[in-house]
Amino acid sequence: MILVINAGSSSIKFKLFSVSDIKNPLPILEGLSERIGVDGFMKIKFNNEKFEYSNALPNHEVAIALVLEKFQELGAIKNKDEIHAIGFRVVHGGKLAKSVVINDEVYQIIKSNIELAPLHNPAAITVIDAVKKIMSSTKMVACFDTAFHQTMNKEEFLYPVPNNWYEDFGVRKYGFHGISYNYIVENYSKLSGKSKNDLNLIVCHLGNGASISAIKNGKTIDTTMGFTPLAGLMMGTRSGDIDPSIIQFICKKTGKTVDEVTNILNKESGLLGMSGLSADMRDVLDANEKNDEKAKLALTKYNQIVADWIVKFANKLEGKVDAIIFTAGIGENSVRTRKFVMNNLHILGTEIDEEANHNFSYEDHLLVSSKTSAIPVYAMRTDEEKMICLDTLNLTK
Ligand code: AMP
Repeated sequence: MILVINAGSSSIKFKLFSVSDIKNPLPILEGLSERIGVDGFMKIKFNNEKFEYSNALPNHEVAIALVLEKFQELGAIKNKDEIHAIGFRVVHGGKLAKSVVINDEVYQIIKSNIELAPLHNPAAITVIDAVKKIMSSTKMVACFDTAFHQTMNKEEFLYPVPNNWYEDFGVRKYGFHGISYNYIVENYSKLSGKSKNDLNLIVCHLGNGASISAIKNGKTIDTTMGFTPLAGLMMGTRSGDIDPSIIQFICKKTGKTVDEVTNILNKESGLLGMSGLSADMRDVLDANEKNDEKAKLALTKYNQIVADWIVKFANKLEGKVDAIIFTAGIGENSVRTRKFVMNNLHILGTEIDEEANHNFSYEDHLLVSSKTSAIPVYAMRTDEEKMICLDTLNLTK
């Protein structure tokens, strides 16, 4: 069995896979430990039943120990040794271009990337430390959100700033959501029967965090997120690209520090900032139905930015695009977002199939473009945990 762990500063998401069929791991249990360091709460879904626990979780180590204890109590495993490896989602892998087994060197690399991902990498380190203590002989694998994008050329990943910012401090475009992009490329390759190396795709990962990638011959040539996940598209709470001078201007106007204003761009902007209502796309869509002007403006802006990037990336792919794929919470589910975006890709000649686009209950993928569309457009469910599980299995079997 393989355990996949995605840790936040006060939470741990986990999913346990049976890997008896090594090509098709089967999820058997999933859950979430949250409010770690506050009080503690844990939910588990197993055998179609839901379980909830209110145990004190003072730190990640106690949380991991409780997760393993509950696995045994529920009968998902008989003992810890049945878990042959653990795969961790790590946001920033710096220059690492692939998932890797965690040894001392990799551990130090993740640690040294904390300054590049101060909100995310510390949680990964904390939870890796916790697992090391409890399951010292179990193999551990790190899967990075940045790794998939390491194929970008210098002219794409460098910013037009003084050279030494890159050379001395590592300031460059990294890109994120790579685990999801990797999964989508693999899945579309299976679906289309085409080799990954022959695939040109524009993939729109539109979740609470959102990005788009241009993929040529199965590899990223450009992506909208940058040095941090704040860049690119407008998101749930993140602004995406804005004029950098606005930060200095607002600091002067409000007396806030750079850290405080950056925090606002990360946590109080995007859909939330513009609508003044919510970061959740469903809420903003509902408010728009009720003719809320700000919600309408926020949605128009959101959709237009997505459409603009797709057109830009189609140009970068020299017009040779095998498919445009929408994924993650909004991309997979928002009929209106897909419709608006597709209707605004004028020069690409995409054409929506309205009826198909309204199908909510598809399983893996849904063709939402018409037969006469110049480029096929799909909604496709992403599965980052499965991707982490497959990488972990490949590196440890
Ligand atoms: P994720 O970060 O991938 O979990 O995506 C979260 C986003 O997906 C939130 O903004 C949700 O509002 C959005 N979402 C989930 N279901 C739907 C839906 N049926 N229609 C529109 N947006 C949705």
